[in-house]
Amino acid sequence: MRIDGATIFCLRIPFVEAFRHSTSVRSFSDSIVVRVRAEDGTVGYGEGVARSYVTGETVESMVSHIVNRLWPAVADADYSEISRSEDPLTALSSIDESLPEDKGDGVIAWHGARTAIELALIDCLLRSKSLSLGKILPAKRRSVTYSGVITAGSIEAAVRHARYFKLFGLKYLKIKIETTDPVERVAAIRRAVGSRISLRVDANGAYGAVTAAKILSALHEFGVDAAEQPIKRGLPAELAQLRTSSPIPIVADESLVTLEDARALVDARACDCFNLRLSKCGGIFRTLQMARLGRSAGLRVQLGSHVGETAILSAAGRHVAAHLEHVDFVEGSYGSLLLAEDISRDSVVFGHAGVAPLLCGPGLGIKVCEEVLRNYARNIVSLSSPARLAHFRKGEVRNVSTNQESHQPVGETPASDARAGRNLARKRSTTFPA
Ligand SMILES: [Mg+2]
Repeated sequence: MRIDGATIFCLRIPFVEAFRHSTSVRSFSDSIVVRVRAEDGTVGYGEGVARSYVTGETVESMVSHIVNRLWPAVADADYSEISRSEDPLTALSSIDESLPEDKGDGVIAWHGARTAIELALIDCLLRSKSLSLGKILPAKRRSVTYSGVITAGSIEAAVRHARYFKLFGLKYLKIKIETTDPVERVAAIRRAVGSRISLRVDANGAYGAVTAAKILSALHEFGVDAAEQPIKRGLPAELAQLRTSSPIPIVADESLVTLEDARALVDARACDCFNLRLSKCGGIFRTLQMARLGRSAGLRVQLGSHVGETAILSAAGRHVAAHLEHVDFVEGSYGSLLLAEDISRDSVVFGHAGVAPLLCGPGLGIKVCEEVLRNYARNIVSLSSPARLAHFRKGEVRNVSTNQESHQPVGETPASDARAGRNLARKRSTTFPA
């Protein structure tokens, strides 16, 4: 099966409330969504998230990488059907192998861009056979239970969020902690939710090693189940050193982007748990690879998410979370709890107690609403197969069509956006050099 064309949507979907952690304040989703179209007319959607402080990618560099590196490889490939296999990695390996691997340019890994393309291809190839991703990743459970994540900001607001999550029946909460008041914050939330709710913390690398050790010792009395990335990404030995003194299990997040990172963390005995996130880890194939490596080394696994993911990454995460034999905590599927509007026709948001059903429809199992994609796209890039452009030399990247679509102002502001008190992002035409 050949892929004839692709379209990149650079989204800017407002949040209903700003989300804070120690390294950023975010008030809109800046995912890129890729739609691929196969020669039989089937389309599939994928999503990647740019986080310069995680993978080193920006929205602009992701788009450029797709245009110049990933898309030419996809347009040149002839994909076989994805068929059921004993091993999901076997079923998905041809897609992974078709995508080039590049290093350098200050980027740890082009994993956001890769994830957007990988998921779009998986969705498209499965849809062409009316096959659900659940057939490739057989579920080990009947539903997935999500954690709530509490943004940084004032302690009062954090406590309010914690109480809301408790009322909603959530049993697992993750608290974003900042440099100034981590112990007071966790103490206040523990008082508010009682002793039966599982609490863990995420510092997003906010502390130096000495300070982190003191904070983890102080947090122990509040029954914290895990501490994520207390110090910034660096040598695994530094995290290992902290782990030896920590009474709280250590979760590697920003320290874990590539499979090489995973091996180094295992070798150094640097953590107790891997936090895997699809867009950070490079898609489903690589996430499963890292999960297996972690489990075989006796580590726990958490399936996390990026703030502001749309229904595409939420759906893919649902399938992976359902498939993993052992997964301690799952995050994501916040959909319209955070986004002014999500891009799927059916909600992916979890229900009471954080429980969400499995997705059974073809491909990733959601129906993407193109109108919403276009409404919130600040830039749209169309790519055509070089094979279809006879007057261009095959493989000459400059000649891959990168037509900017013209944008009309959005005629109507969605009610949910008005509720958030924000205006839609003004659409701009950005030129991405071929
Ligand atoms: Mg984290």
